[in-house]
Amino acid sequence: MSENLMDKVVSLCKRRGFIFHSSEIYGGLSNTWDYGPYGVELKNNLKRSWWKSVVYERDDVFGMDAAILMHPKVWEASGHVENFFDLKSDCKSCKKRFKVADIKERKKCPECGGELTEARPFNLMFKTHQGAVEDAASSIYLRPETAQGMFVNFLNILDSKHPKLPFGLAQIGKAFRNEITPGNFTFRTREFEQMEIEYFVRPEEADEKLEEWIEARFNWYLNLGIRKDNLRQHPHGKDELAHYAKACTDIEYNFPFGWSELEGIANRTDFDLRQHSQASGKDLQYFDNVAKERFYPYIIEPSGGVDRSVLALLVDAYNEEKVKDDLRVVLKLHKDLAPVKVAVLPLLRNRPEIVELAKKIARNLKKSVVTVYDDTGAIGKLYRRQDEVGTLYCVTVDVQSLEDKQVTVRHRDTMQQERVSIDNLKNYLEEKLA
Ligand code: ATP
Repeated sequence: MSENLMDKVVSLCKRRGFIFHSSEIYGGLSNTWDYGPYGVELKNNLKRSWWKSVVYERDDVFGMDAAILMHPKVWEASGHVENFFDLKSDCKSCKKRFKVADIKERKKCPECGGELTEARPFNLMFKTHQGAVEDAASSIYLRPETAQGMFVNFLNILDSKHPKLPFGLAQIGKAFRNEITPGNFTFRTREFEQMEIEYFVRPEEADEKLEEWIEARFNWYLNLGIRKDNLRQHPHGKDELAHYAKACTDIEYNFPFGWSELEGIANRTDFDLRQHSQASGKDLQYFDNVAKERFYPYIIEPSGGVDRSVLALLVDAYNEEKVKDDLRVVLKLHKDLAPVKVAVLPLLRNRPEIVELAKKIARNLKKSVVTVYDDTGAIGKLYRRQDEVGTLYCVTVDVQSLEDKQVTVRHRDTMQQERVSIDNLKNYLEEKLA
């Protein structure tokens, strides 16, 4: 199945309303994607789970939401203006552009065999202009990572929260990179969302804290139900490290197109705080008032992609099962991630009392659980539709429900059914979903 698993997931995403091609009615903007009704729920659930695990369940990490636009000097100090580029080469015949790192036979175009131009650096930052005048002084960048918004607020956090080391900042937000070779659906795009933590530590603790974060982050993916066989750690060799990093380990997922990075956990040393101190003239050192010493903390950075995680979760959860003569497609997403928790379905849609009761049950459940009501097809079709989007429980209201005040609850993964009294339904579901 793995050969066409990607095609199946992409098709399900469009068919059922998870992910659409951006600006599709105009022919689509290449490699740009919009999240539909189920996609946005899945994405929000994922972000909520991340925030809960790195902010709410810890005492030492604070949340932030910095602006996408930042002072242009940030990107000079961070090294992005000078170092954030890929080498590119263009084909002189077919005009296609390639990332040099991706081409094995470097002299010829991999598509048409044509002659390639000399490799040239290509900065990945999107440049635009702020304000009405387009001149060099108004040039500004769309941030290529959310991290810098946390470094430049380091003093504000010290002055407002007075935290003791080690402590961290966490934020989720959009980042932009003018990638030379975007592709593989939402895996590599030019606009994407990151979930990043900047964890400030004493330099001598950095190696230990790096290991702790690698383990914590790896376990987070496992706890979301991703199959262990499909996850691995990849420690970077010296030649793979970014310009600011001393060490880095990637968490990789076994995508249908091969093992690829979901998240990188790096030791950024004191590079960023030093650079911003020098460039801004503000002292970004930490003062330890017990040891009476002033120093630049090291930074451990777990940096993951929302879109890549969503893609991994969709691929991992996609299942096809043979049920009698039928093929059941079911997304076995973790209960915290499933876009819809409960669907209420009337067994007979031409019986007003049944429809009425089903609607009433759905209205009541909606107050505490994400619930949908659907009466637009026969029950078999309604079940299939809910399975495909990963709905955890289907509640069916039938003729007998009118008499015994019970409904049938069908479990997504096992397809087992049980009768539950309507009075107890809300408690029953809330317990299962807790
Ligand atoms: P890659 O090597 O795949 O280009 P990277 O090492 O440059 O990724 P980082 O700079 O470490 O990526 O960014 C942190 C995370 O942000 C990545 O692990 C990934 O999940 C996400 N990310 C980075 N670039 C993209 C992109 N173009 N599209 C989608 N997500 C991305």
